[in-house]
Amino acid sequence: MNTPYYGYVSPYSAGLRCRCPRCGEGRLFSGFLAIAPKCEVCGLTLAHEDAGDGPAVFVILIYGFVMAGLAAWVELSWEPPFWVHAVIFVPLILGGSALLLRPFKGVIVALQFRHRVAGFENEPDGPAGP
Ligand SMILES: [Zn+2]
Repeated sequence: MNTPYYGYVSPYSAGLRCRCPRCGEGRLFSGFLAIAPKCEVCGLTLAHEDAGDGPAVFVILIYGFVMAGLAAWVELSWEPPFWVHAVIFVPLILGGSALLLRPFKGVIVALQFRHRVAGFENEPDGPAGP
């Protein structure tokens, strides 16, 4: 019983901040999208997480919907030439998608930990708590 008890950590808060889903403090990522093998604060083994294509799917569906709507609105409002769309939306879509992948992956990994699925089945919060 050396493991301290970590209270409730919101999976959304921890995931969006790219922090460990158990303690909410340790870094979740060791690279741009590579999950750290272990939390450096609480020691939670993160190596067996399996977010799969989930983050990319959510980014495509949510951010893609917003960007498509924005492009349609710009086209219908001002009817700019094609190169204006390319100059505005290619960097926005590529950069925004890249920026959103980490927090989406963080939330998915944190939700997997919270619901004890995808490799987190036997991970405790810590000794008996509330
Ligand atoms: Zn931790």
